[in-house]
Amino acid sequence: MTDKDKPIKIKSAKKMRDIMGLYYMDALTASQNNKLVAWITSGGPVEPLVAMDIIPVYPENHGAMIGASKMGEDLCVKAEEMGYSTDLCSYARADIACSVVKGGPIGGLPRPDMLVCCTNICGTVLKWYEVQARFFDVPLFILDTPVCHTGYTPEIDTYVKTQIREYIEFLEKTSKRKLDHDRMDEVGKLSLEGQKLWQKVLNTTAGKPSPMSAFDAFFFLALIVTLRGTRTAVDFYKELLAEMEERIAQGIGVVPDEKYRLLWDNLPVWHQLKWLSATFAGHRACLVADTYTSAWCSAIENIDPDNFLDSMARAYTGIYLNIGVDQMAAQVLDYIRFYDVNGMVMHSNRSCKPYSFGQMDIMNIIRKKAGIPILMLEADMTDPRSFARSQAQTRIDAFMEIVRQRGAAS
Ligand code: SF4
Repeated sequence: MTDKDKPIKIKSAKKMRDIMGLYYMDALTASQNNKLVAWITSGGPVEPLVAMDIIPVYPENHGAMIGASKMGEDLCVKAEEMGYSTDLCSYARADIACSVVKGGPIGGLPRPDMLVCCTNICGTVLKWYEVQARFFDVPLFILDTPVCHTGYTPEIDTYVKTQIREYIEFLEKTSKRKLDHDRMDEVGKLSLEGQKLWQKVLNTTAGKPSPMSAFDAFFFLALIVTLRGTRTAVDFYKELLAEMEERIAQGIGVVPDEKYRLLWDNLPVWHQLKWLSATFAGHRACLVADTYTSAWCSAIENIDPDNFLDSMARAYTGIYLNIGVDQMAAQVLDYIRFYDVNGMVMHSNRSCKPYSFGQMDIMNIIRKKAGIPILMLEADMTDPRSFARSQAQTRIDAFMEIVRQRGAAS
């Protein structure tokens, strides 16, 4: 690769690393500063925690760091030695093992004072959090959000809203503090503003050439997950958006000489980000969008900024992983149109069953309705034992040849 072919780096990346460093420092020193820590699932309603000054910590974000640092295999093996199946999600295996051996890139997560588990992403988290609640001997709150196969019903609304009230009671009892509703309103507004900005950042990749790729989105996602509801996240995404708009104005694409535009489905393969990014860029293909990072802004229209707490039930129940396959396919079709993509790469993720089970059906719907080539790539987001680079290289090369031929024919 010559200098001319090297992508122009995104300046905001350094700031983002600094913010995440401070966030983890704050979390790791919480007990010395008399702060409480709650572990929470990635799709969980974090805003009441932020409003009550409880530091939210995300084992899944930690799992992503473990995967990206290539520490996933050792921790997964350790969990298997403890008796957990290789079929269990590698985030769960890595986290359970990490709690025992204090491994991983930051020497393990801070001890939780409580656990908050929302089932809107999967059923695995239920058992995973039960295991951790027993291990740390701390209270666990489970927010059960039924899958909206065909839509959000009044019964689901009543069921989840009741639990949201119980969630606040749980937090008040466990932290021995009262929720300040003015502060809650403020955090709700910041959360919505952050999600809207994140959506705008993702939307910039409709520009041609795309100013960033899904690989960048996987990285910049961390703040909307971990610091949602804070001024820090809002200010950061304003800066990132401005940088992306500037890149568009100057015609700066993240993939030099972008020719093909692809959509990614499922979680990233954290341990292969660099390789996958370089491999697709070598074909002048940019992964301009994905179904994963948009999950943290997909419920914007269901949030009522003037009544955040009440609208949380609907917003958190209707996220991408908690809807039916037909609705997922409809969203994918929207992305294909909006981002004007030539092909789709579906990561068949051995770990993530809710994400991967419906993929064949979605693939068939997309092939029929959009007619674009689709590659199914077998891997696992954290455990590298389910990925073979040489096999992936062959399949990507063959897939890109089809994308090229379709492009030439159209
Ligand atoms: S199974 Fe999927 S959704 Fe559930 S914790 Fe693992 S990666 Fe996340």
